[in-house]
Amino acid sequence: MWKVVQGRIPSFSELLKRGVKVPSAGKCFLCSMLVETVEHLFCHCSMVWRVWQKWVNLWKLNLVMPGDFKSFMWWWNSQIISSAQKPFWWMSFFGIVWTIWLCRNDLVFNLKGCKADTIFDLALVRIGFWCKSKWLDMPFSISEFVRNPILCGSLQASIRRQRAKLGPIIWPGDNADSVPKGWEFPTEGKRLKIGNYDAVVGDVTIVANRSLFVDFTLPYTESGVSMLVPIRDNKKKNALVENNEEVAND
Ligand SMILES: [Zn+2]
Repeated sequence: MWKVVQGRIPSFSELLKRGVKVPSAGKCFLCSMLVETVEHLFCHCSMVWRVWQKWVNLWKLNLVMPGDFKSFMWWWNSQIISSAQKPFWWMSFFGIVWTIWLCRNDLVFNLKGCKADTIFDLALVRIGFWCKSKWLDMPFSISEFVRNPILCGSLQASIRRQRAKLGPIIWPGDNADSVPKGWEFPTEGKRLKIGNYDAVVGDVTIVANRSLFVDFTLPYTESGVSMLVPIRDNKKKNALVENNEEVAND
């Protein structure tokens, strides 16, 4: 992130300055209108601007984009008053910046089209994942988060606020320093299993009926389809061209 603040990401105008030959005359990959600078890519690009606007509109805030990235961060920092909300607010900032960067790279290397809505949706999923992995016991799923990020954001803030009010655990016998015997989890024996499964990891087809019972997480990366097939290798090892027909007929 510091590299972005310093303007050090090798965006195309930078590469041009250093004499590196780049395609499309250094134009921004997202809008293909203007030269790609750090300021353009993360603040002023029309596509990126729509992404920021969508997020900021959810919070009913008015964003007048400052001239440079550093001032934009200052603006961001000055927006949320509640300190309990701040970690989430900043997480959303970095989630959006990181998603913009990944989408831009995807365009550079894969030359696939990208829309502001796509960047926004990807950013939401990413922020949701970050939120759930930072605050492990958040009582919402990724899909609930995507549907209402503001509500989930304030929910996690209020939970954290409540937690901060709780004192340390006083174990029976007014013992605050060590956990008495009998309160530890046994290390032997089978663990308690509630229901059939808590989670399934793998290729699970999302069907309407299943989505009534479980929450499906969305794939982070693009999946490729590949096939693993056994090779029948019972031919003579010194067989040359004449065997090809035989193989084809198998
Ligand atoms: Zn652009």
